[in-house]
Amino acid sequence: MLARLVLLILVIIAVSLVWRRLRGMRRRASPPRTVDARAVRCAHCQVYLPSQDAVLREGEVFCSAEHAARGRRTS
Ligand SMILES: [Zn+2]
Repeated sequence: MLARLVLLILVIIAVSLVWRRLRGMRRRASPPRTVDARAVRCAHCQVYLPSQDAVLREGEVFCSAEHAARGRRTS
């Protein structure tokens, strides 16, 4: 009888630990990454690219260091 009671308590502890871990995983997965990964346009070649890959120079956004050096295309 005592062994069954101990087993029941262990099962309850194990279930609560798994439940907490699942809730923690859900909370970690929830932050949206769409804000960081917004698209920006290169001022030189007009190509769209993720903002974290963009090169920023004098307030303009470029797709690469090469296009940043060439600057905004005037034509
Ligand atoms: Zn470009």
